[in-house]
Amino acid sequence: MLRNVSELDVGGKTVFLRVDFNVPLADGTITETHRIDSSLPTIRFLAEKAGRLVIASHLGRPGGSPDPRWSLAPVQRYLERKRSLPVQLAPDCAGPAVRQWLADPEGPRVVLLENLRFDPGEETNDPEFAAALANLADVYVNDAFGAAHRAHASTAGMVEHFREKGAGFLFSQEVEYLSRILSAPEHPVAAILGGAKVSDKIGILKNLIPRVDRIMVGGAMAYTFLSARGVAIGRSLLERDSIAVAREIMEEAERCRVPFLLPVDHVAAGDIGAGDPAVTPDAGIPGDRMGLDIGPKTAALFADKLANVALALWNGPLGLFEREPFQSGTVSVARALSASGATSIIAGGDTVAAVRLAGVAEDMAHLSTGGGAALEFLEGKTLPGVRALEVGDPI
Ligand code: ADP
Ligand code: MG
Repeated sequence: MLRNVSELDVGGKTVFLRVDFNVPLADGTITETHRIDSSLPTIRFLAEKAGRLVIASHLGRPGGSPDPRWSLAPVQRYLERKRSLPVQLAPDCAGPAVRQWLADPEGPRVVLLENLRFDPGEETNDPEFAAALANLADVYVNDAFGAAHRAHASTAGMVEHFREKGAGFLFSQEVEYLSRILSAPEHPVAAILGGAKVSDKIGILKNLIPRVDRIMVGGAMAYTFLSARGVAIGRSLLERDSIAVAREIMEEAERCRVPFLLPVDHVAAGDIGAGDPAVTPDAGIPGDRMGLDIGPKTAALFADKLANVALALWNGPLGLFEREPFQSGTVSVARALSASGATSIIAGGDTVAAVRLAGVAEDMAHLSTGGGAALEFLEGKTLPGVRALEVGDPI
């Protein structure tokens, strides 16, 4: 069982809050603040209720030693602007300055630790580093769902030092919505899967087949499935090593009586950059062309199969949506989801971007910020960051 931050006893306590502030930077400026904004509700809540707040995150891959290019200074400035109260940036994670500030009743109330990955102990989950972090606070809160698939000092090792621990609002929401797909309390449930690589999605497909009522596959990964069914795919992306597992997955779907829908037409072109995209009349693709989007018949078929669903999961764009000639399949399925009124859960960075592009982000029940962690959760794995937070059921 996970406790939510709102159930924890934080009054007058020092709270350690792990967040995912791994934001993109260009010349020291944050170019996309979504990850920080997503944790602001938890930060606001704790800044008001807790005695002291210690915020910690990783940023980039500094490789276990301090590197000013990966300093959290830009994040500190952004937080001060957003919260309009002082946030003190620490010189390191658990060094003497931080300990002194926290020991001093007049010390700063909100401290942002410097990049956790400046210390080699973070990624190796070093027990000493974990204990040093744990010593800073009385209560542990994790809002970094996007880092929950890593057993690092700040997500796993330090957590066992705390009795009072729980999930921030963002972390709780991620677990709640992704669990809903796995427990499927409402039916029918649809899964739409796309994206570039079959091998990335095998685990999810295997875990979802027994739980959902229909599966729709598009994107580059569809070509390996079509090929396994003996359909001509021309020069479309093919993962030869995955043909056998694609066949197994389709057999499993048949055994579970779960319709497994593949594209029935495509937008194909001579090459990614070629100016000759055209719709194919059926599922086959001529030898010199590659499929780069689902065609209009497929988009209509998928929309029809989504019209009455109660719950939907979508991961993976259905075409090379970054290019205008190949975005219409992805955009029309996004709109079909919004029109269906289903509880729609969108996972994967590119898929979230595609839903925004289609202008229907507001209609989705949940846009996961979880990236790889969300995908592993949907594969049915117990994430180390989730396991560490678990507490026994209250008697
Ligand atoms: P997510 O980030 O949502 O998990 P993925 O990373 O699995 O999604 O896949 C997204 C990528 O797949 C996009 O860059 C998109 O252009 C690519 N893609 C989808 N369909 C095709 C296709 N038919 N041919 C080439 N690339 C494709
Ligand atoms: Mg991606």
